[in-house]
Amino acid sequence: MPSGRNSRNRSRQILLWNAIGSGHDPDGWTREQKRTVSLTSRSTNMADIKALIRLATEARDTAHAPYSNHPVGVALVTDSGEIYTGCNVENAAYPLGSCAEQSAISAMVRGGGRAITELVVVGPSEEPCTPCGGCRQRIREFSTPDTVVHSCSSQRVLLTMTMDALLPHSFGPKNLNRR
Ligand SMILES: [Zn+2]
Repeated sequence: MPSGRNSRNRSRQILLWNAIGSGHDPDGWTREQKRTVSLTSRSTNMADIKALIRLATEARDTAHAPYSNHPVGVALVTDSGEIYTGCNVENAAYPLGSCAEQSAISAMVRGGGRAITELVVVGPSEEPCTPCGGCRQRIREFSTPDTVVHSCSSQRVLLTMTMDALLPHSFGPKNLNRR
């Protein structure tokens, strides 16, 4: 990560401490407040989010979704700062269709990435488009409980969640004694 980005994140974290802490000692915060700060300090800054939304929107606009008319685009960020995108690809034989998360993860693995820190999903409308159950598990394979998932329109963030919230008590590589 470039140091500029780290310092921006630190500034943002301090701002958030001020906003959430309301002058209280950080040690007096509730677990939820600490979690929010931790989540935000890991998250990209506003300029980065806009860039990710733009990339996910570009991916969405290439989707092949003639049956559902529900195009979806994804942009994900790896722990090394690489960005991969994907779109949904439907098929006349319906079950063969694939989700945008799936194609972005395939591109990431092909590119050598194995750890997702943040993921943006852009759906076709202002309604939050969240990853389907299958994709939550697909993302889970390459994420931590704190991996951040933003559900966005082409203009803004509608909903921000952690993987832990999206797929609680999940099954993952550790259940098979891996990682
Ligand atoms: Zn899916």
